[in-house]
Amino acid sequence: MKGVGGEILWIDLTEQEIDARPIEESMVRKFLLGAGFLSKVLFDHIPADADPLSSENVLGIATGLLTGSMFPQASRHLVAALSPLTGIWGESHAAGFWGPELKMAGYDAIIFKGISPEPVYLNIRDDDVALVDAKNIWGKDVFETDELLHKRHGKKCRILSIGPAGENLVRFAAIMNDRDRASARSGLGAVMGSKKVKAISVRGTGKIDVADPDNYLKEMDRFHKRMLDNPFTPERAKYGTTNLVEMMQEIGRLPSYNFRQGVFDEYEKISGQKIYDEHLVKARADWCCLQRCGRVTTVREGPYKYTGGAPEFETQSSLGSRCGNDNVESVLFGHHLANKYGMDTISLGGTISWAMEAWDEGLLTEEDTEGIDLSWGNAEAIIELTKMIAHREGFGDLLAEGSAKAAEEIGRGTEKFVMAVKKQEIAGQEPRAQKSMGLAAATAARGADHLYAFPVLDEAGFDDEIRERFGEEYLPEMTDRLNPKYKGIMVKECEDYMVVVESVGLCKYGTQIPPEFYYPAVSKAIQIHNGIELSEKQLKEIGERIVNINRLFNAMRGITRKDDSLPKRLTQQAAPTGPSKGQTVELDDMLEEYYEERGWNLESGLPTKETLRRLSLEEEMKRTGLW
Ligand code: SF4
Repeated sequence: MKGVGGEILWIDLTEQEIDARPIEESMVRKFLLGAGFLSKVLFDHIPADADPLSSENVLGIATGLLTGSMFPQASRHLVAALSPLTGIWGESHAAGFWGPELKMAGYDAIIFKGISPEPVYLNIRDDDVALVDAKNIWGKDVFETDELLHKRHGKKCRILSIGPAGENLVRFAAIMNDRDRASARSGLGAVMGSKKVKAISVRGTGKIDVADPDNYLKEMDRFHKRMLDNPFTPERAKYGTTNLVEMMQEIGRLPSYNFRQGVFDEYEKISGQKIYDEHLVKARADWCCLQRCGRVTTVREGPYKYTGGAPEFETQSSLGSRCGNDNVESVLFGHHLANKYGMDTISLGGTISWAMEAWDEGLLTEEDTEGIDLSWGNAEAIIELTKMIAHREGFGDLLAEGSAKAAEEIGRGTEKFVMAVKKQEIAGQEPRAQKSMGLAAATAARGADHLYAFPVLDEAGFDDEIRERFGEEYLPEMTDRLNPKYKGIMVKECEDYMVVVESVGLCKYGTQIPPEFYYPAVSKAIQIHNGIELSEKQLKEIGERIVNINRLFNAMRGITRKDDSLPKRLTQQAAPTGPSKGQTVELDDMLEEYYEERGWNLESGLPTKETLRRLSLEEEMKRTGLW
């Protein structure tokens, strides 16, 4: 097979053994690489009753089929394991240069089993792969680790690592790469910490052979021209995702005060324009990317002084509006600290805003917080708590469990302020202002998640793409973000497509918003890069298979329809103000349509036997012992 590294590294940390095994084309034809490959490997290797922080958990890191190719934004790798935050399927993805470098070293994925007796890091230099003593870097933050390993292995190596949050088993710890890129969701940094793996340094000097060298550059050039001509590209290069604050405010979709409402009166103070005018240093691109949504920002003076990676919209929302915080410098600095310590900013802000609401309601007091004032918008407290959570100090130790577990522990009625699904905090997408996002958060395999489906086709009125992907008959309802009709059909299709995108290593910016590339482009790219013919129909079936094996993984851990839920605030309390005033999420109606479209049982929410047979998942179905 062309266009791949060619081998998978299987690492037994308990025995300190490394085994490089060839990639199997039959597996690729059924599950692709990236998300699909790890879905199958982890389903096969993690026992149903495994503790996420025990030696039985398996941590996988995989590139996609197109990662490292010349396709626009083919920069991504995926991390997966049983999540310590949710206890179910955990996955997270990041862009950067680490994934392409791994491929150039000759590897497509790394699978860690067991637990190392002492801290180690994995050093890869082409064929030379070794576990190295990491005692002297254990305890260092992400930036220090990055610098130290670059000094040791040369400027050209690419580093993936955890910070103190991962070492301290914070349940929403991230795995960082290329300094500021984060596989943030699902708490997989804690899994890496539990395995005592501090980092992976990679240097690959090989090249990736492509299947059709004669047409390769010409075809890839065409894809790049399409991306360049897309009207979204200049806007994204200018603001990244930061100007979503303004756009979300306009439609009432900017979660504020722990989702009490979808508008934030002080939104201009944390807006994309504010960051662009006063804090932007430069835009930054990942591998082979023209959109350049990454950026470097600075705070020039004061307590929040720093220069480094910039927040994306999700952090402006989570550490800003969601906490009622209009101090943009603290949002930028909080983001910087989260990267330095290695934490997911969505769960971080989601957990702090849960505590702030509990404080506001008088359910948490200074006795609980050791004197910290948790009033809405207290920027100092947000920064202080960020440090305390990463190091599990004082009240931070409780918050390091995430909002759902913290509320379980504290009780006192604080549970009703947990804005999470399956114990993972909801991202910065107010679903009362976009119903498809509510359904997507409820059904996503990794718990509350806007990216598993990323159903944005109704957000900006992509009528042409809805026509192309679904058909004229679904308009105008499908494109209306406040209408629940056809959202089950849309979310199902988006989930299937997005897991394919995560299995080939592409960015969602280009495949979903803007929706420039769809199955025909992915199919063509796989053909010229990997030399594999996979039609649109075959790719769609693979996507469906991946979603269903994720569902089987979760079903073995007790997940059914009852868990595909949303906090009552979103389904029973109307949005109190803003452009979506009066709206709730009609989740039950959308779920029925979704299950029907998926071929899942309406009562249990689990795939029917017929669906699993159609997707050649019979053997996996039997192994669950549930059918
Ligand atoms: S659009 Fe942004 S996240 Fe995607 S590859 Fe480009 S810089 Fe990276």
